[in-house]
Order: sequence, then C-alpha cells, then structure tokens
Amino acid sequence: MVKNLNFIPIGVAVKSVVILGGGLAGLAAAAALAVRGFRVCIFESRNRLGGRASSFTDPVTGQLIDACQHVTMGCCTNFAHFCATTGVAHLLAPQPTLWFMTPDRRVSPFSADRLPAPFHFARSLLRAHYLTLGDKIRIGWGMLALLRTDANDDQPLLLWLKRNRQNQRTIERFWSVVLVSALNETIDRLGLKYARKVFLDGFLRHRRGFEVFLPTVPLARLYGEEMQSWFTEHGVTIETGTAATALEIAGNEVRGVKMRDGRVVKADWYIAALPYQRLLGLLDEATINAHPCFSRLLNFETSPITSVHLWLDRAVLDRPHLVLVDCLGQWIFNRGQSADGSYYLQVVISASHHLKGLEHQEIREKIVRELSQLFPALTAATVLRAKVVTEHAATFSALPGIDRWRPTQEAPLGNLLLAGDWTNTGWPATMEGAVRSGYLTVEAILRRSGSVEQIVQPNL
Ligand SMILES: Cc1cc2nc3c(=O)[nH]c(=O)nc-3n(C[C@H](O)[C@H](O)[C@H](O)COP(=O)(O)OP(=O)(O)OC[C@H]3O[C@@H](n4cnc5c(N)ncnc54)[C@H](O)[C@@H]3O)c2cc1C
Repeated sequence: MVKNLNFIPIGVAVKSVVILGGGLAGLAAAAALAVRGFRVCIFESRNRLGGRASSFTDPVTGQLIDACQHVTMGCCTNFAHFCATTGVAHLLAPQPTLWFMTPDRRVSPFSADRLPAPFHFARSLLRAHYLTLGDKIRIGWGMLALLRTDANDDQPLLLWLKRNRQNQRTIERFWSVVLVSALNETIDRLGLKYARKVFLDGFLRHRRGFEVFLPTVPLARLYGEEMQSWFTEHGVTIETGTAATALEIAGNEVRGVKMRDGRVVKADWYIAALPYQRLLGLLDEATINAHPCFSRLLNFETSPITSVHLWLDRAVLDRPHLVLVDCLGQWIFNRGQSADGSYYLQVVISASHHLKGLEHQEIREKIVRELSQLFPALTAATVLRAKVVTEHAATFSALPGIDRWRPTQEAPLGNLLLAGDWTNTGWPATMEGAVRSGYLTVEAILRRSGSVEQIVQPNL
C-alpha cells in the first residue's frame, strides 16, 4: 500500500490534492476526486485505513477484529454511494429485522410491513412486549410532535420529551434505546435536532430508512484491501504509516505539509480529513486564534464507546444480533466462529461515561453475568478469552446547539478544505457524516475552481 511520493508538481493541467487522514472522510473525498480526474495522494498516520472504523489483529488467531462493531442504515445514502462506487457494497449484509430483548429473555422483532411510511412500523411498535399500551400511545404522540418540530430546533432533548408527554418508562425503554446507540450520548446531554433526525430519517420518512447493514468482513479489510484495487485503478496514491506534523501557512494559503519523516509535500489543494484534535495540533496558535472556525473546535465535548469481546467454547446465540432493553450492554453482535474454533460475541455500550474508572476485569464480569442471565446456555459455557476496548473520544457529543461550533468544509485558507464527521454535515458523528463531509470538500474544490456539481446524494 505504501508508495513513495515526495513531491506533487504544482501547475500541471491535472490538479493535485493532498489528503491528510485515511478515515472514511478522506477516502470518500479521494474517491470523488479520482473519478473527476484529480491527482490524489492520501497520507495516513496509522498502518491501516478506515480511521475509527477499523480493526486490530487478534494475537491468538491472527484474525482481524473490529475495535468496535460498526453498523450503517438504509438512510445513509452517501455511505451507500461511496461503497457502491468503490465496489464493496456487496460486503454489507442487510438485517431486515431487529430483535429487542429484555432481562426476562423475551424477544420482540421489529421490522417494516407493507403500510406506507410513517405507518410501516405501527405493527412492530404495537407488538413490542416491553412497552404497555399507554407507553405506545405516548410514543405515538411524541412521534407526531417530532414531525411538527422545526428541523433546526436544538433545545435540550430531555425537556422536550417531558413537555411532550414522555414518562420515565418511554424515555428509558424507547427513546434512550434508539438514541444512545445512534448518537453515542445520554439523553440528558443531547439536543433535539439530531434526535429528530434519527427518527425522521431512520424510522418515519421511508420504509427502508431503518434497515441496518452489517459488514461481512472486518472493517480494516473492507476499507483496506477490498477498496485498494479500486483506488489503484483510479491512480490514487496511498501512504500509510505517514503522519503530518504541521501545515505550512503563508498569507492566506497552505504552502505545504510537513511530515514526520522530514519531507514537505505540496499540492494545489489540501484536505485535512483528520480528527479535529489532530487538526488543531497541525496549526500554530496564531492561525487558531485568527480564525473562529478553528478556535471554536475547543468547545467540542466527546463521548466514549466500550466494546466487550468474548470468545466462548460454544454457541449461545442463534440470532445475528440483539438490541438489549434495560441492560448494561446495548447491542450484542454474533460474530460466528473464529479460526481457533471459538464462538465470538461482541457487546457494545455507547456513551459509556458510567463505566469510567472501572477495571476491564470488572466490566467484563458485569457483562458475562448479564449474558448468563439472558442466555442460560452461557452458564455451562467457558469464556476462553475476553477483551474490553474503550474508545474514550469515540465521537463528538451532539449537545444542544452543537452546530454553532461545527465549521463548514470551506476553511478560511484559500486552498485548504476540512473533512471529518465533526464538520458541519447536517448529520451526527457517523460513517455517513464522514462520507458526506468528504463529498462536500470536493464540491467546495469544484466551486472554488469555478464549476458547480452536486456530489452529495439525495435522501431516501
Ligand atoms: C467505537 C466506535 C463505534 C462507532 N460505531 C459506529 C457505527 O456503528 N456506525 C457509524 O456510522 N459510525 C460509528 N462510529 C463513528 C464512525 O466511526 C466515525 O464517525 C467515522 O469513522 C469518522 O470518520 P472520519 O474520517 O471523520 O475520522 P477518522 O476515522 O478519525 O479518520 C481520521 C484519520 O486521520 C488519521 N490521522 C490522525 N492524525 C494524523 C496525522 N497527523 N497525519 C495523517 N493522518 C492522521 C487517523 O489515523 C484516522 O485514520 C463509531 C465510532 C467509534 C469510535
């Protein structure tokens, strides 16, 4: 994957673009630029592509293990477009039914039926065993109220829910179950805007908006070798293990990027597709202070995600996944049999602030205890291995009014664009948001070069 490129000549007919960061935002920008004839080079500091959506190598089996399971939904139209463009869409498996389980081991399926949107979920909601009829009426009321709110109203969500007849049970057993996983933040910290978006785009607008897709290969392979041939065919150069250390700025322009190995790489355009904390690290204080779009990033807050990986000596789960209600774990993913014959489960806990300070051993024990109650077969099983992974700054928190701190992709420097799930995409921190940001940077480059093209895909 590493190909040396010390210098990209300026001023040739084909415009050159240096992309810093090989996460989804950088890769999507590269794909959109490559098909439009730009000469693209991606510099990624790690040895793998995919950024936060990536994997590590299991030292026991040598297999790639996703640091955390990633799922996408039918409403993520730009992510779907990016995967189709780069030829990996067939590696995402649709899950037409979601399974909701409570501690008493009862399970309710959730799927769309033939009724038109927004009534396609009415039957699933009515048969949800963990909600009373009164809860369901309250939820219906809340949904109608949501449809009537302004798309940019970002008042504190919890106050809005209480004002709209939601009680403790509907908040905990319905709104939280969906939103904590979708937005990676607790209900008391969220704003209304992105909560509304999750329900509108995912559940109310289109019958297929909610459909969950699970990658059938590890993320590092999906965004690595599976995409590699497409990028090679389209002339994109990718250097992994190459970190940028500073943007060299003169006047109102970036003149080059200083790399950790001492090189300075130059291009016509620069896309910083980095986590915002890393971008700030590449800028000098004077530049940060001179431009509010950079200094405002200091207002962001982040939220952690914890995943518990368990390898068992036998299968205990016969469904591909489960959404847990009233449990510590929120989703369980059944990852099947590993190369060493063990059965691999992954349990995900989003917005895991409450686990801070606990030892990995304690988290693991809590989860194994919980799973033993849910699946009696587990009490007879042996946990062969376990690993707890916490991504402390997994995503930015969609706090009320967050968009006032999110910059557009058009940085105030003439030839610099900003990409990343944290830029203003109209989406929360997701793979879809990251891909959108990449596409938006390419629209901005074209606009600054005098042509207008819409690359961002329409909603479902
Ligand atoms: C645990 C976890 C679970 C998640 N689950 C989901 C999910 O189920 N569904 C979903 O849609 N989203 C999920 N997300 C969010 C999703 O992963 C992110 O929104 C998305 O991957 C962000 O992509 P990005 O390109 O904006 O940023 P990143 O993925 O952070 O990419 C930035 C890249 O820049 C590189 N970099 C950093 N510094 C330098 C440097 N100096 N020089 C060169 N390169 C550098 C980094 O190594 C990284 O590869 C999850 C995130 C986490 C952490």
